[in-house]
Amino acid sequence: RTALVWFRRDLRSFDHAALHHALLRSETVFCAFIYDKEILDTLPRADRRVEFIHACIGELAAELQQMGGNLIVRHAVARDEIPRLAAELNADAVFANHDYEPQAIARDDAVARALAAGGRPLFTFKDQVIFEKNDVLSQSGTSFSVFTPYKNAWLKRLQAEPDSTAPWPIDPYAHKLAAGPASSSSLPSLQQLGFESTNLAALAIPTGMRGGTQLFDDFLGRIADYGVARDYPAVKGPSYLSLHLRFGTVSIRHLVRTVAQLSARGQAGEGGAVWLSELIWREFYMMILYHHPHVVHASFKPAYDAIHWETGPDADALFAAWCEGRTGYPLVDAAMAQLNRTGYMHNRLRMVTACFLIKDLGIDWRRGEAYFAQHLNDFDLAANNGGWQWASSSGCDAQPYFRIFNPVTQSEKFDPEGKFIKRYLPQLAALDPRDIHAPWQTPRMVLEEKGVTLGHNYPQPLVMHDEARKRTLERYAVVKKA
Ligand code: FAD
Repeated sequence: RTALVWFRRDLRSFDHAALHHALLRSETVFCAFIYDKEILDTLPRADRRVEFIHACIGELAAELQQMGGNLIVRHAVARDEIPRLAAELNADAVFANHDYEPQAIARDDAVARALAAGGRPLFTFKDQVIFEKNDVLSQSGTSFSVFTPYKNAWLKRLQAEPDSTAPWPIDPYAHKLAAGPASSSSLPSLQQLGFESTNLAALAIPTGMRGGTQLFDDFLGRIADYGVARDYPAVKGPSYLSLHLRFGTVSIRHLVRTVAQLSARGQAGEGGAVWLSELIWREFYMMILYHHPHVVHASFKPAYDAIHWETGPDADALFAAWCEGRTGYPLVDAAMAQLNRTGYMHNRLRMVTACFLIKDLGIDWRRGEAYFAQHLNDFDLAANNGGWQWASSSGCDAQPYFRIFNPVTQSEKFDPEGKFIKRYLPQLAALDPRDIHAPWQTPRMVLEEKGVTLGHNYPQPLVMHDEARKRTLERYAVVKKA
C-alpha cells in the first residue's frame, strides 16, 4: 500500500503522528508540503513567517532525503493539489495531523470529500497537543471554560496516562520512505513564491528542527528561574519557542516529557511547573476555539458584544498611534516597537499593550487582534484570540472588566530601570529610572537636559490613564446591565 503524508504545521521528521501511522500501515510513503496559495496570497510580500517556513522546508526536505525519502513541494491551492497529487502518486490514502482552526477544518473537510470521490481516505491524528477536543472534560462531561479546573483535569489525565507524551517513532520504518518523482527534487526559492527576504536572518531567529532544539536546550539551563524571570521583558526569561510550537519544528510530547522528567527528579525548580502551565494554556485556548468557533468573530461571552467602541477618524488616529508606538506611554511604545521590528512581543507586554488599546483608548479588541495576527511571527489564532479576549474581559476566564492595568505601574514594576524601554526607544536612553515610566510628569527642563522634548522627539501621552479608566468603566456598564 502507498501513502501520502501531508505536512502542514508539523514541520519535523521525528516524533510525528501522521508520518508514523503512514509508515506503519503502508509499504511506500510519499511526503508533501504545499505552499498554500489560499493562505499566502493574503499576506504582505515580506513576511517573516513565510521566510521561516521556507527555511524549515529546506531543512525538512534535506532530513527526509538523508533518511532515503523526499519532500514533494508545490505552490498551489492545497485543497485542490492534495487530491491531485494523491491521484498522481497512486496513493491509497492521505495522512495528516489535526488542525483545530475553523478554516483549516473546512479545508480538511473539502480535501477529505475530494479524496473520497477518488476512493481514498484522509486519515488524521492528534499531534500538536497532548490533549485535544474532548480528551479533557469536566465530571459532568462538558468542556471547560475556566482554566484552573481544566489544568487540574489535564494534569490528572497526564498522570493517569503517561504514554500521552510517548514519541511516535519514525526511524525504525524509514526504509519505507519513497524517493519521490524526479520532478520533485527542486525546492522553490522565496522569490519564486512571490516573497521578499525580511530581517529574519539579521534577527538571528533560529529556524527549523535544529533551531527548535537549540532554543529548548538553552531554555532548560534557566527553566528553574522561569516563574520569576518570565515577567521582566528586559531579561531572557521565556523560552522563545512559540514560533517553533506554531510550526511544529519541536514536538510537544518531547517538551512535556522532558519537563515532567526534570520535575520528577527535582531539577526543574518552580519554573518547570509554571512553564508546563503555559503549555496547558496553549491547549486550553485550542480546545476553546475548537468547541466555540464563534470566538473568531465575536465575544466568548455574548453580553460583551453590546459594548460600543470608539469609531471614526479620531479612533482611527488613536489606533494608528498605538500600532506605530506613539502613545506617549514608554512601555507601550517600546513593546509595539519590539513587535514591529522583530515580530515578537514579550507576554507581559502583550497583556499591557492589549489592555491599553482596549481600556485606555476604547478601541475594539478585534482591531488589535488583527494587528497582532499580521505582525506576530508566532501568530496562532487560538492563543491570539484567547489573549485578546482575556484582555477585553470578554473571553473565558478573562480578567474582570473593572481590573484595568495601569500602564505606568506595570512599567515601574516589570521594567523598573527602564532597560527594556531604552532598548527600543533610544531617545529616552539618558532618562533616570524615576522619569522614564511617565515622562510627562517630569519637569520640562529636566527632560530637556536629557535630550527629550515631549511633542518633538517623544510624544505627549494620548490619554490620561485615570480619565480613560473612568470612561472604560462607563463603557462596560452595558455588560453589568446585561
Ligand atoms: P513561554 O513563556 O516560554 O511559554 C511557552 C509556550 O507556552 C509558548 O511558546 C506558547 O506556546 C505557550 N503559551 C504561553 N503563554 C500562553 C498563553 N497566554 N496562551 C496560549 N499559549 C501560551 N501566543 C502565541 O503562540 N501566538 C499568539 O498569536 C499569541 N498572541 C497573544 C496575544 C495576546 C494579547 C496575549 C496576551 C498573549 C498571546 N500569546 C500568543 C501568548 C504568549 O504571549 C506567547 O505564547 C508567548 O509570549 C510566546 O513566547 P515564548 O515562546 O517565549 O513563551
